[in-house]
Amino acid sequence: MKLYKIFQSVALSICFALLTMTFFLFVSAEDALAKVRVVTSVPTLAAIAKEIGGDKLEVEGLAKGYQDPHFVDAKPSYVLLLNKADLLLYTGLDLEIGWLPVLITGSRNSKITSINAPGNLNSSTLIPIVLEVPTVRVDRSMGDVHPLGNPHYMLDPRNGISVAKGIADRLKEIDPENASYYDERLKDFVKRLSAKIKEWDEKLVPYKGTEVVTYHKSWVYFSDWAGFKEVGYIEPKPGIPPSPSYVAELIRKMKEMNVKLVIAESYYPQKTPALIAEKTGASFLALPSQVGGREGINTYFDLFDAIVGEITSKLANHGKG
Ligand SMILES: [Zn+2]
Repeated sequence: MKLYKIFQSVALSICFALLTMTFFLFVSAEDALAKVRVVTSVPTLAAIAKEIGGDKLEVEGLAKGYQDPHFVDAKPSYVLLLNKADLLLYTGLDLEIGWLPVLITGSRNSKITSINAPGNLNSSTLIPIVLEVPTVRVDRSMGDVHPLGNPHYMLDPRNGISVAKGIADRLKEIDPENASYYDERLKDFVKRLSAKIKEWDEKLVPYKGTEVVTYHKSWVYFSDWAGFKEVGYIEPKPGIPPSPSYVAELIRKMKEMNVKLVIAESYYPQKTPALIAEKTGASFLALPSQVGGREGINTYFDLFDAIVGEITSKLANHGKG
């Protein structure tokens, strides 16, 4: 009798364990099935994907927001992430040419290797206008890192809306079961972003026509939206650091103009832009250009709140010492 009881209790325990295991296997399998795995080259695209995909996605960004997106270390761990991706989002226009293609090839993931695959989304195809498309052939051997036009289009928040729409379309194609979920979130995102664009626009209105100099040509879309006039660049060509004689000539030219602001991302050397600003009576601002570019900038909204807030407060105080 006693032996029978022991046997019964062991059998029950085994049954319970098996049930638990089956339950967890089922749940994790379902979880894995339900989530679309998205990998983005840069963090701003990851932020937009999260806005649209919510908890239906698992999103990983490769480059960090405080890194120069033109030059990123192609880490082996990135290959593993790409190997499991259902969707790869990238900037395009050769922004990532120096590091992403080798990772994509290494991933051996047919979902993302072909540019025609649903899992491969070049976000530059989603925006209405690419600025600064060269009229003559330019390649990287000439040092210019913008051979197909300017790739820094996410710094115009209106392009954030176009890109979000394109991401939603692609998610619906990959994961049609959740189409209405993506539609809902897109609608909400566009509504919130449009309201913020109006708010940022109003802040920028008094500063339309402001003459600015930037380190890299990263701000042309921003200036186009904000109504700033870019009158010079610290890099003689995108990707080429300035020589002392180039800097001297830039300072001479800037003194003849009324440049109020010098902008450089924090991953560029800060000494030269700060010195140029000092010599010409301009203000100097180190700004983030991607989500994650600085602590506390976790969303696309945070990014423009910081950029617009800091530029307008700098310009408001310009010349007041
Ligand atoms: Zn660039």
